[in-house]
Amino acid sequence: MNELAVSFNKIYLTGKEQQFIQEALQTGKIGSRGVFSDWCTHFMEQRYGFKKCLLTTSCTSAMEMAAILMNIQAGDEVILPSYTFVSTANAFLLRGAKLVFADSEAKNPNIDANRIEALITPRTKAIVVMHYAGIACDMEKISAICEKHHLLLLEDAAQCIDAYYTYSDGRKRALGSFGHFAAFSFHETKNIIAGEGGMLVVNDDCFIERAEIIYEKGTNRSQFLQQKVDKYEWKDIGSSFALSELNAAFLKAQLACIDEIQQKRNKAWSYYVHLFEKNNIMGLSLPDIPAYSVGNGHIFYLICENYTIRENLLNHSKKQGVQLAFHFSSLANSPYFKELSHGSTNETPVAECFARCLVRLPLYNSLTENQQVRVFESITSFFIH
Ligand SMILES: *Cc1c(COP(=O)(O)O)cnc(C)c1O
Repeated sequence: MNELAVSFNKIYLTGKEQQFIQEALQTGKIGSRGVFSDWCTHFMEQRYGFKKCLLTTSCTSAMEMAAILMNIQAGDEVILPSYTFVSTANAFLLRGAKLVFADSEAKNPNIDANRIEALITPRTKAIVVMHYAGIACDMEKISAICEKHHLLLLEDAAQCIDAYYTYSDGRKRALGSFGHFAAFSFHETKNIIAGEGGMLVVNDDCFIERAEIIYEKGTNRSQFLQQKVDKYEWKDIGSSFALSELNAAFLKAQLACIDEIQQKRNKAWSYYVHLFEKNNIMGLSLPDIPAYSVGNGHIFYLICENYTIRENLLNHSKKQGVQLAFHFSSLANSPYFKELSHGSTNETPVAECFARCLVRLPLYNSLTENQQVRVFESITSFFIH
């Protein structure tokens, strides 16, 4: 057996998962929208000031719901970051939208707010932002652009549970509370997990009624459940978006311990900063966090000078038993998008640079400081011979 000394990710269990799943089994109700789902959505509405939360089978499906709610039609344009996961793009492509990719900020992979307005046309319907690694996008600037041009805003908040944006007067506001919609992920690789799972946040009242219908396969079943109608019927398009109570029970076990989980992750994240700041390595940059961002320790990344160095570093650390990882490729530069747009892609060179040079370090709750030192040493030994 040649086990990795430091693997890239390990799921964290709070110890309450089995008990809550057992309770869900005992209620005899393991479909959607039972007591566990209710607990989770209330918890997040209260804690983060989200208007309406609906648990979904994934963040991907939450974004698909958002695209339906936005009423995206064939030919509508949607501006989104090039540096993101494919689901952000697919949700809109499935509705026939034209994807318009925006480049990243110079200092981090987030969408560059200063490049958005130049991409707006009369056909633009929505802007999508993704807060990479739980680092906030420039939400004051982006919200102002959306208001000025009457555009809808979706936050791909997959990575940013318990992350915040700070206003200049010190007020803190949860990521996921800015957009008309936000989509979170509880996939096993995120801070808070449910196996698979996600959540749609609807922050604008005018979308809530239709959200309930689309969520319930296009029926008014939720009105029926609230005894507002005596039978439910087909009202609109929709799909099967709701999360099972078994996963919601798992999710409750995690959310009930969110402060402890976040404290551990933030501590591990800060310890990496401490190690790398104290030992400046030529050719390797630390994440540059904007002053308005209060992160959540989701990802710790470094930026290499070029692709070859990044690839060689990944191999070097692997040989030492340390699993590092690259991350997203830039969607504007993907073969599939080039095929879709018949070769006429919009260039996003900064996103491309993050795609080629960014490296993620192991980060999870059971990671020890000794293991972090080992990760650090595997990296320094590559740069300093
Ligand atoms: C993880 C992730 C997703 C997908 O989440 P699922 O719950 O697996 O659908 C989408 N966008 C981003 C930015 C992600 O990191």
